[in-house]
This record gives sequence, structure tokens and C-alpha cells, in this order.
Amino acid sequence: MNAFAYVTAQTPESAAELAHDDGCFLAGGMDLLGEMKESLLKPKTLVNVKHLPGTTEVQIDGAKCLIGANVTLAALAAHPDLRRLVPGLAEAAAEVGSPQIRNLATVGGNLAQHSRCWYYRHRDVQCRKKGGTACFARQGESKFHSLFTGCMCLSPLVSNLAIALAALDARVIVQRGRKTETLTLAQLYATAWTTPAAHNSLKPGDLILRIELAAAPGARSAYLQLSEKSDFDWALVSCAAAAKVDDATLTGVRIVLGAVAPIPWQVDEANAFLEGKRLTDETARRAAELLLREARPSGDNAYKLPIARALVRRTLMKLVA
Ligand SMILES: Cc1cc2nc3c(=O)[nH]c(=O)nc-3n(C[C@H](O)[C@H](O)[C@H](O)COP(=O)(O)OP(=O)(O)OC[C@H]3O[C@@H](n4cnc5c(N)ncnc54)[C@H](O)[C@@H]3O)c2cc1C
Repeated sequence: MNAFAYVTAQTPESAAELAHDDGCFLAGGMDLLGEMKESLLKPKTLVNVKHLPGTTEVQIDGAKCLIGANVTLAALAAHPDLRRLVPGLAEAAAEVGSPQIRNLATVGGNLAQHSRCWYYRHRDVQCRKKGGTACFARQGESKFHSLFTGCMCLSPLVSNLAIALAALDARVIVQRGRKTETLTLAQLYATAWTTPAAHNSLKPGDLILRIELAAAPGARSAYLQLSEKSDFDWALVSCAAAAKVDDATLTGVRIVLGAVAPIPWQVDEANAFLEGKRLTDETARRAAELLLREARPSGDNAYKLPIARALVRRTLMKLVA
């Protein structure tokens, strides 16, 4: 690990100034410290952002939820109002890693975490994500990799929260210079679709402040994932859904797949197909086909297709259960 300075930011504006061009924000450290130990990142300054005012609480204002970037995943999973209003989000948080990880990992860090691709994580491999010229997963081991990508990198987005928040149509409030900007989840990851070296669309110095989302009356949400191990593991495929449900009829539907693309994977046609329909096994199957229509399995990740189909059906069924 390289030598670095350690400072604690007192305000969001000063955090970016302290990080400058060669520093990193430190939240729970679950991802960042691993990358530093592997010499994948060599920041000159670590800027502790964990205690920034206004970033450590969940506030519920009617059906509006404001979730600070430094709320831990354990707190998110256990929050009684979030479990009631947006159960899909609490379920996604509860599935992350292990209790030890959830006790430290934060919402902002989970959204901004870097690729888990084993080629990217190997200190001696100069892959596309590190500015090299080849995606080694394409000719090599692609078991955990994407079914969809817009660029030469096959590394998928593995943040559980990104998938649940995309289904909930949440907004990510980001401090960018002296201004704050509001991003959809699609915008937060759009750059990773087109740019192999990008993990997300955040620019150097961009600081996630909070998440905002609305839980409309009658709205339901659900999240499911399948992993190789029941604990301490990422999803092979995950699925989140949100909709208003009236007598098993869905409106305002959003269904999203995770760990299959560098972005939360949504297909407008699948959402539109479900709109106003009574959910049956057949409609759920058809939605899954629409979501997976453009899938391009490579090498040994085709097993993700039947898992994704099953998760889409089960997650939708969970909405109406
Ligand atoms: C064994 C294991 C299993 C795991 N399983 C899962 C899983 O199943 N699902 C899942 O989603 N994750 C999983 N993770 C990843 C884990 O959830 C993330 O590492 C963690 O959420 C990162 O949060 P953190 O607060 O520790 O971030 P840090 O490690 O402190 O930061 C991570 C990155 O985010 C940046 N960052 C931090 N806060 C902000 C902010 N407010 N604004 C902008 N950038 C910021 C940092 O600079 C850094 O680049 C697993 C991790 C491990 C080690």
C-alpha cells in the first residue's frame, strides 16, 4: 500500500477540495481499502467523509424518503419505516455480503463501489477497465460477467442498492463542485455502458450526498437475488421490481436486473408490457423474455439466463403476494 495523508472533511464542498485530483473519499472502506491493498488505487489523500453533516440519517417525510449517503447498509436493512414503505430496498441491503460488511458499508460507497471482475482486481493484469487494450473475460473466464454491454468491458454492476433504487425510480443527489446535481440511477451508471474504464458516471470530486425516493400509496417493491453462497457473496443475478398493485393488476411498473450489465438492466418494453396487466405466471414469463431478448451470453455465463427468468417471475409474484 502506498503512503497517504488522512484528513476528515467537515463539509461536502471541502471534501472535494481536500481530495483534489489525486485523493479518494473514504466511507466504510470495504471496497476502497481492498483496492489500495492490491495497489489498484494509490490515492495521495484519503478524505474521510463518514461524518459529514446531514449524510448519516434516514428522514421520512410523508411518503418521501431521504437516505443519507453515510447510512450503513445494516441501518438501511433494519429501518422500520423503510421496511414498510420500500421493502425491496431493505431486502437488497440485507442481502449484501455479511453482517460485518453491512455494519460498515455505506449507501454512497455501495453505489460507487468498483468492479469485482477478477481480471480488474488482479494487480498484474492491465485490462480495459484499467486503461489496457483487452477485456480478458471475453476470451477467458466470464462466469460472473455481463450478458449485456455497450462497450468492450464485460464487467457487470454488482451494487445491490443500485438495482433496488433503479426499480424505485430514486434520485441520487450529488455534490459537484459548488452545486448539487440530481441524477437518476440510469444517469449514475450511463458512462459505464459506453466507457470500459468507467465504473459509473461520477467525475473526480463528485460526492454522493443522499438518495431521495417516493413511496406512493399502494406502491409495492421487492428484491431477490441468487448467489453461490448464502452469505459473504455477491449475486450471480439479482432482480428488483416496483409497482402499484391493485387486485394483482400492476401500474407504474419497473423491473430491473442486476449483475448482468454495467448498468441496472431495464427494458422499457418489458415495463410497458406489464402496465395495467393482471400478473399471471404467463405475463411474468413474457416480461422476462422481453428483458432478456438482447442478451449476448459469452463463454460460460449463459447459465445466468434461466436464473434471470426465474428471478423475474418470482420477484413479480412477490409484488402481488
Ligand atoms: C466479501 C464481500 C461481499 C460483498 N457482497 C456484496 C453484495 O452482495 N452486494 C453488494 O452490493 N456489495 C457487496 N459487497 C461490496 C460492499 O457492499 C461495498 O464494498 C460497500 O458497500 C462499499 O461501501 P463503503 O462505505 O465501505 O465504501 P468505501 O470502500 O469507503 O468506498 C467505495 C468507493 O466509493 C467511493 N465513495 C464512498 N462514499 C462516497 C460518496 N458519498 N460519494 C462518492 N463516492 C463515494 C470511494 O471513494 C470508493 O471509490 C461485498 C464486499 C465484500 C468485501
